[in-house]
Order: sequence, then C-alpha cells, then structure tokens
Amino acid sequence: MEANRQNRAVFLDKDGTLMEDIPYNSDPKRFVFSPGVVDGLGLLAQAGFRLVIVSNQSGVARGHFDVSALLPMEERLREMFSAEGLVLDGIYWCPHFPGGANPQFGIPCSCRKPAPGMIFKAGTDLCLDLKGSWMIGDRESDVQSAHNAGCHSAFLHNIVDKEIDPLPDLVSTTFLDLARKIVSHTIETLPL
Ligand SMILES: [Mg+2]
Ligand SMILES: [Zn+2]
Repeated sequence: MEANRQNRAVFLDKDGTLMEDIPYNSDPKRFVFSPGVVDGLGLLAQAGFRLVIVSNQSGVARGHFDVSALLPMEERLREMFSAEGLVLDGIYWCPHFPGGANPQFGIPCSCRKPAPGMIFKAGTDLCLDLKGSWMIGDRESDVQSAHNAGCHSAFLHNIVDKEIDPLPDLVSTTFLDLARKIVSHTIETLPL
C-alpha cells in the first residue's frame, strides 16, 4: 500500500502510556491522561496520524472484571479524546490470558501483545499502512508487538535499566518527546 498522510496510525498502549499504570484498572472515573500526553497526541494528529488504542486487558480472563466493563471504558476514552479536540479512530482490547479463571477468555489468542493481532485488525479495519505506522508503549511486549506487525516502535522508558529485545526505534522518558520524535522522523522519511 502506498504511504500517504491519511493511512498511517500511531497505536497507543493505554496503561503506563496514556495514563498511569494502575493494575487492572477498569474504573473509567480513574482514567486521566498523564502529563504531556494531550500535547503529544495533538502533535501526532496534526501530522496526520490516526490514533488507535491497543490494550491488553487480561483482567477479563483473570476474572477481575467482566467483559461488559470494556464498553464504559471505551466510552470514557472517546470522551477524553473529544474533550481535547482529538479523534480516537479505534480501540482494540485483548481480554484473553491463557489459563485465566474465566473459561471464555482464559485461552491462548493471537491478539495479546506481544502478538500483532490487534494491530493487524486495526490495519484491516482502517486500511492502514503498517510500515508507516508506529506503536507507543511502556512494555517490552509493546515493542515486540510493533515489530511483529511490521510497525515502528517508540518505547516510553518508565522502567529504569530494563533491557528490551528487539531494540525500539525510539526511546524517551516522556510521551511528548516520543511524539515529537515520531513527527520529525516521519517528516524526514515521508514527503508531505
Ligand atoms: Mg502499558
Ligand atoms: Zn487476545
């Protein structure tokens, strides 16, 4: 697929990236963007990237919350984006975890990061050029998921001295800095 300004996305991890990592947080009232995230998302949107959340939610498989809890979480995220004048182009959840207590979701799958299933699904749904797209995340599994999907990866380095494999294309301690670097990298490699 030919690269252009409309069919590239930035895939966004949720917990520890867009907001603080509170384990198994399914309470929409506790969703708040981390500092610099709104500005970073604005830069990415301005540069023409679609914004798509891809999030492992093994709390469903582990029995911490019901799969129906994902809907209000999704509504809250859409509200948070639109309140900032941003469009959230898609949200993809993986509710699975092999061996989890919930028999419906406690199974192996092809969507749990580091697998590329959520990115592939979004790529198909939104007709995306994955080679021109990026994943921003704070875990090795985010970087691996990007690698497995053929995307670039930007690693939010929250965890000190963590060795990750494969190495990400970009690393920073802040979301805003990663967004700036993605935009400048893209301007260098893809004429507008
Ligand atoms: Mg995370
Ligand atoms: Zn899954």
